[in-house]
Amino acid sequence: GDPVGVIALQGGYDRHREMLSRLGAASRPVRNPGDMAGLAGLIIPGGESTTIGMLMERFGLLGEIRNSARRGLPLMGTCAGAILLAKTIEDSNQPRLGLMDITLRRNAYGRQIESFEAPLGGPLSEFRSSAFPSSVATLPHHHPLVGVFIRAPRIIAQGPQVETLAFLESSSREGSPQEEAVAVRQGNLLALSFHPELTEDTRVHELFLEVCQKAASCVA
Ligand code: GLN
Repeated sequence: GDPVGVIALQGGYDRHREMLSRLGAASRPVRNPGDMAGLAGLIIPGGESTTIGMLMERFGLLGEIRNSARRGLPLMGTCAGAILLAKTIEDSNQPRLGLMDITLRRNAYGRQIESFEAPLGGPLSEFRSSAFPSSVATLPHHHPLVGVFIRAPRIIAQGPQVETLAFLESSSREGSPQEEAVAVRQGNLLALSFHPELTEDTRVHELFLEVCQKAASCVA
């Protein structure tokens, strides 16, 4: 099939490409608008969102990606990539795609726990792909998805058309557990505040490839 593009300007694009290749999907590094032709989907990796956004602007990728997304190209942004997909970034006017009706707060989990791992709730932890049945054969039943958070942003608001795919259970000071969204979807657009490319669990990439396959069959 058509390759999945991975923005390769800065940050963690290699691990995304490894994940795709483990699932038998072709990938292509994207640095220029010309690299966008004929893609099945596009991943925007983690890294430094101000740097990636500035380089996207400089190389003319912001407009090209926006147009492709409006024509239905599936996009998945992880961590810095999720920041770039957000319409609103708290206290920042940095360059962005601004395609998703979400508000993100950068580096929102505090200096002392800049990185952590946590099991996630929600549909992504229940997800089993029919297209990749072998990939979960080695996982125990009811294996939750584990989120790897590295100086992660927080999704602090989401519009009514944005659905939650995974959440983190955080206990509030009052003691009542709160569910906060860490993976969300708005049509062909997926944003994750964690790094799905850094575990052995391939389910997030399986889901994205399913979204890409469905989008391709709609166009064809
Ligand atoms: N803190 C980074 C930013 O704000 C995101 C971190 C990451 O992608 N791991 O862009």
